[in-house]
Amino acid sequence: MAEQCIFCGIVAGRIPATVVHSTDDVLVFRDIDPKAPTHLLVIPRRHISAVDALEEGDVEVAGRLFLAAKEAARSTGIAQSGYRLVVNNGADAGQAVDHIHVHVLGGRKLHWPPG
Ligand code: AMP
Repeated sequence: MAEQCIFCGIVAGRIPATVVHSTDDVLVFRDIDPKAPTHLLVIPRRHISAVDALEEGDVEVAGRLFLAAKEAARSTGIAQSGYRLVVNNGADAGQAVDHIHVHVLGGRKLHWPPG
């Protein structure tokens, strides 16, 4: 738990969020500023700052992020039409929140390549 971390605040229940999927290790909630009709964020409950901070011991939780993304895509109805997972790491990628998160975007045709 990182004291100043917004996403740790959501995990702790101090900051409100619309949670769509929850497990012992992972939380999925709606992005507050959606970039697609469905825009979810998948986070580990435990604070990990970024992909760049992942260690060998995080292998299981990293896998759980993908499984939770799949489950949440199904339960929010975007699995069949398709969806995109995005993970920003560091300044050039535009990472704004230093708690690792997987964006799940769907509900419209997505362009490629991203900007
Ligand atoms: P990134 O730029 O990859 O770090 O993405 C951070 C995402 O977190 C952005 O899409 C924000 O809209 C989203 N975000 C920030 N604060 C909140 C919040 N309190 N609840 C839900 N989403 C948030």
